Amino acid sequence: MTESAEERAAATARVAQYRLGEAQLVRGEGIRSWDASGREYLDCVSGTFNLILGHHHPEVMAAVRAQTEELVFASSAFRTESTDRLMRDLAALAPAGLTRVNLRSSGGSTANEGAIRIAQHHTGRRDVIVPFRGHVGQTIAAAAYNGSSRMRAPFHTPPLGAVHVPDAYCFRCFYRQTPDSCGMLCVSRIEDFIAYASSGSVACVLIEPISGMGGNIVPPPGYFPALRALCDEHGIVLIFDEIQTAFGRTGQMFAADLFGVVPHMMTVSKGLTGSGLPLAAILTEERMADWDRSLHGFTYGGHNLAAAAAVKTLEIVRRPGFLENVRRTGAILTERLGALRREHTMLGDVRGPGLMIGLELVRPDGGKAPELAHAFQRALHARGVLTRVSEHGLGNVIELRPPLILTPAEAHLIADRFGEALAVVAAEAVGRTTLVPRVGTARPDRAG
Ligand code: PMP
Repeated sequence: MTESAEERAAATARVAQYRLGEAQLVRGEGIRSWDASGREYLDCVSGTFNLILGHHHPEVMAAVRAQTEELVFASSAFRTESTDRLMRDLAALAPAGLTRVNLRSSGGSTANEGAIRIAQHHTGRRDVIVPFRGHVGQTIAAAAYNGSSRMRAPFHTPPLGAVHVPDAYCFRCFYRQTPDSCGMLCVSRIEDFIAYASSGSVACVLIEPISGMGGNIVPPPGYFPALRALCDEHGIVLIFDEIQTAFGRTGQMFAADLFGVVPHMMTVSKGLTGSGLPLAAILTEERMADWDRSLHGFTYGGHNLAAAAAVKTLEIVRRPGFLENVRRTGAILTERLGALRREHTMLGDVRGPGLMIGLELVRPDGGKAPELAHAFQRALHARGVLTRVSEHGLGNVIELRPPLILTPAEAHLIADRFGEALAVVAAEAVGRTTLVPRVGTARPDRAG
């Protein structure tokens, strides 16, 4: 069903109204930040932003300060001590086989475009397969590949050979199957998309192992091995966008480790610099490293201040206990928030892993409830908890992604605030005849 201009305008206004940008943040420490009036915020969006080590991590800040004393420089063409060191450390940390590091982008959209270019150059082919709820970025080309039409609009993106396929969203399976009996249709049917929906010239599959902006969708075991096999069979490059998932977010160093599958290429950014400096990297197999001919490189790629922060960040995330803390605090949150489902049926699903958590808000019939997600987000913001709603604010999943240095006490504090906020939303909903959202985003059944 297409949306009218009026409905789209209403949806846009609703998103604009609840942007996080209203608070002017002036100071940050750990998972907390403060605005000019002294109001405190708990950061539960760092996975979507970039603070896996929280605000102003003292060791990262010291590394950046030390680097400013020596050299401040960015270049995609020249080497520096910190970029050399970072490339070595990243290659050593990455899943086996991803030995070549391209540090020439400073953000996720351009890193993903670079990965696509490298795959296109390497295969001599054009098309890019992306899942329905996949997020590639916001530059015009990257946005053209975004899965949801809402995440492509309003750019009027040119057709760049994007082939969108159903994702492994078991909670709302496109093929109306269950994970035990589906035979992994969401992988095998990709062959039909290659045969009938592509140009016949597919260069790569670009996929977030767990979708970040698209609703925290966690594919079932078996999905990625099957996808890798399909890619190998068709000579397609499998690219993992680990821009949100890398460096411990899921409780493993990379989501690739969690799923036990190594892609042919990987993009990382956000958490790479620990406490908020801009940098991205493309990791590839040796055979794809002739990227100079793909002409990918930007003025502020390879920034040596960001690289100094990243070297320190990688040292910290490798320390004993770091990943264990993610698993432990993640388990506290998913257990406590999962328990809220017994009281509040509007909380349809709470899914991890680690500190990559999604809370799916549903109507009584199981349909999506974006209005409830927004009410929940408003109630959380009123309690100083910063979160985001999936699909650029147009979905029905609350994204909960605190810094990975979260303590168990902070996890309980966040769970308390979520409980209070949900009680407020439930009280507001009492007496309403319907929970159907006014703006036409809900669907009559759970699929969608
Ligand atoms: N991929 C993913 C998974 C992302 O979450 C984002 C940013 N939200 C991007 C790509 C784009 O990154 P950037 O905003 O740095 O261009």
